[in-house]
Amino acid sequence: MKFGIAGAGFSGAVIARRLAEAGHTVDVYESRDHVAGNCHTERDADTGVLVHRYGPHIFHTDDERVWDYINGFGDMVPFNHRVRTTVGGRVYLLPVNLLTINQLFEKALSPDEARAFIAEQADATIGEPANFEEQALKFVGRPMYEAFFYGYTKKQWGMEPTELPASILKRLPVRFTYEDSYFNHPHQAMPRGGYTEIVERILDREGITVHLSTRYTEDLRGEYDHSIWTGPLDAWFDYRFGRLGYRTLDFEEIRYDGDLLGCSVMNFGDYEVPFTRISEHKHFAPWESHEKSVAFREYARECGPDDIPYYPIRLANDKTLLNQYLEAAEDAEHVTFVGRLGTYRYLDMDKTIAEALTAADGILAAISGRGPIAPFYVTSH
Ligand code: UDP
Repeated sequence: MKFGIAGAGFSGAVIARRLAEAGHTVDVYESRDHVAGNCHTERDADTGVLVHRYGPHIFHTDDERVWDYINGFGDMVPFNHRVRTTVGGRVYLLPVNLLTINQLFEKALSPDEARAFIAEQADATIGEPANFEEQALKFVGRPMYEAFFYGYTKKQWGMEPTELPASILKRLPVRFTYEDSYFNHPHQAMPRGGYTEIVERILDREGITVHLSTRYTEDLRGEYDHSIWTGPLDAWFDYRFGRLGYRTLDFEEIRYDGDLLGCSVMNFGDYEVPFTRISEHKHFAPWESHEKSVAFREYARECGPDDIPYYPIRLANDKTLLNQYLEAAEDAEHVTFVGRLGTYRYLDMDKTIAEALTAADGILAAISGRGPIAPFYVTSH
């Protein structure tokens, strides 16, 4: 069969390769002038630092299939992501751990003492948290919520945390040990040569042709037996019901002769500080050494029609719109929607790869006679 794939990020690349390996012809159309989507990495000419052009991406997973897959295309160097946050003129460790608690309350509590202390502050009257704020109050209590989560979240999402789903905070652990690794997953790593090199290798296969700086237009769609769309779900339908809400990011570059932060990411919890965090990219490759440095202040704001969509907002009105698009997708023919934008979800890289592998398996099973190709291969929206 002949497949047209829109988007050369992880979703598009992983599916393209599987289909090509099964003997199909695949054309990948990428509107940007590079592959790897928002994971794109490139060498900064002045400093030699490997820069994550669309913001920091740290690979972490507990999925052995995904871990084996990515290791097949690049050298993954173990990397424990550590984040600090500046609040009220002081620096604390994230995610909230025993040192953070002891620093904030100026105490020297043991794990059990800290558990009891936080339990006293936590709001036990909250059963199933209905929103982000309730989730925080239930698990860490008001002082910690106000210091580390309220201001940051209001800046990141542009609204009160009471309006946001609890699920956003569930991404972050709270620990009663001094372990300050940002993620819990057994595999945490950075690609030695960057993500773009990995995605280029995934796409480097007989049967795959990549067209950079080329949109997958309606005219092109007709040339293929089936399309894989990894662009925004609403864009496929020409925004006929309206636009799904996203947050976008502005990056303000800082050039520095030396070491600006001393770590890869410093969050800024105070609402009065207009940016959410600064990332200093040479610290994402601790095996390299660079005298000069390049860092980025990150500002979050509402995503306009010409901006890059980063975080799906998924509030009630977006969910209503989403349902309309999902219904339209069920009726659409010869197209499968995948990935962060194609399914309008907040997806980490490992989940993106896992879902792309599942979608490719589903498509290949359908082709070999076990039913029609589905519009989606995800279990929940
Ligand atoms: N968050 C926060 N304070 C912080 C870091 C994160 O309140 O210092 C909240 C914020 O709402 C954010 C969410 O936790 O959107 C998830 O954080 P994560 O670091 O996973 O965000 P990402 O790196 O994906 O932007």
